[in-house]
Amino acid sequence: MQTLVKSVFKYGKGIKLINEAGEEYIDGVSGTFNLSLGYDHPHVVGKLQEQIGNLSHMSSTFTEPYVTEVLDQLLEYAPQGIDSGWMRDITGSTANECAVKIAQKYTGADDVVSVFMSHHGQTQFTTGLSGNAFRRKAFPNASAANHLHVPPPYCYRCHYKLTYPGCGFQCVEAIADHIEYGSSGTAACMIIEPILGNGGNIIPPEGYFRQLRKLCDEHGMLLISDEVQTGIGRTGYMFASELFGMQPDIITLAKGLGGIGIPIAAVLMQSRLNVLEKHEHSFTSGSNLVSLAAAKATMDVVSQPGFLDEVKLKGEILGSLLNELPMKYRCIGDVRGIGLMWGLEIVDEEGAPDVRRANAIIDAAFSDQQLILRGSRYGFGNVVKVRPALIATDDELVEIVERLSSVLAKVG
Ligand code: PMP
Repeated sequence: MQTLVKSVFKYGKGIKLINEAGEEYIDGVSGTFNLSLGYDHPHVVGKLQEQIGNLSHMSSTFTEPYVTEVLDQLLEYAPQGIDSGWMRDITGSTANECAVKIAQKYTGADDVVSVFMSHHGQTQFTTGLSGNAFRRKAFPNASAANHLHVPPPYCYRCHYKLTYPGCGFQCVEAIADHIEYGSSGTAACMIIEPILGNGGNIIPPEGYFRQLRKLCDEHGMLLISDEVQTGIGRTGYMFASELFGMQPDIITLAKGLGGIGIPIAAVLMQSRLNVLEKHEHSFTSGSNLVSLAAAKATMDVVSQPGFLDEVKLKGEILGSLLNELPMKYRCIGDVRGIGLMWGLEIVDEEGAPDVRRANAIIDAAFSDQQLILRGSRYGFGNVVKVRPALIATDDELVEIVERLSSVLAKVG
């Protein structure tokens, strides 16, 4: 059992949380990977205060000018052809549902393809869509017939026991078979995270997304890039789709878009796909003005000249520090990451996934009352994640890795 931090946290400062006793905890995972700008970014806090002072909410019938401002900021960075958006969602889960609804309405097809170990949300629909049998176990109805789960691009433990690049992208080849034999024969879309976040920081090999694009075109499917974790600068690029040269039809965003944890989501798409009527996907609290102010303020910061370059540099520092750890601790089988999105794959003496040890590392970090880490208890559940806020200083990155190293020395 994971030890819960007993503290009641009262304040957040940068990437630190402070409890009632005034003790500081360093947050190596930016909340749930969503506090892209830390706990108290002054620009975001200021804009929120201003917005609350003016008007905190009104019916989404009237919010279009506010939505347009944020969309304009986002679309400036979107891959070519993506020039339109929908912002009535509060969570990544429903943003993904929105994307699938668009694909289904546009193509007239029903089936949706996703990969094992993916995570696309926790609504009934996205629980079924996610390739995580563990989370689905108690909800048999979530596994709708139109969800097709296919092997992920997980080269470290290839489903087919093949090696890249000689594998010929068997994991993509197999998708066509799944569609032909496992579905109604047509699929509306494939949804995939550019880096599988909860599944274990899995980074697809070079060329994977080109293959996927080709496959989608051949089968008349839309390609949805779930950037709920990877979006808004997490990889050093505004969108990881850009980093991988992925050409998605739709991008979904949430988490980091709210800057300091304010709930907000977005769906970006090519304008030909803007097919939903307002009554087909809308929520009471959607297009909330405070949330939109947070998104706008976050985009102000992340789009400042040089900000993303800084994240790339910080990513190199973090990556090189983390890559030193396997030389000291044999329980680290693989270190994977880009920008400020990293994962350590914990293995046993035979190289098999070691979930027990991964959990022990996470528990020890909690007990240390300093380092807050989160692991993937799902999928193989053996990947410890390091994903600090984008505003973490170089010194804080060093501190995170030093503390992780001392935990590994005890438990690894
Ligand atoms: N997609 C991805 C890639 C995610 O990581 C998550 C949340 N962990 C979601 C979708 C769901 O987002 P939310 O929790 O905001 O519904």
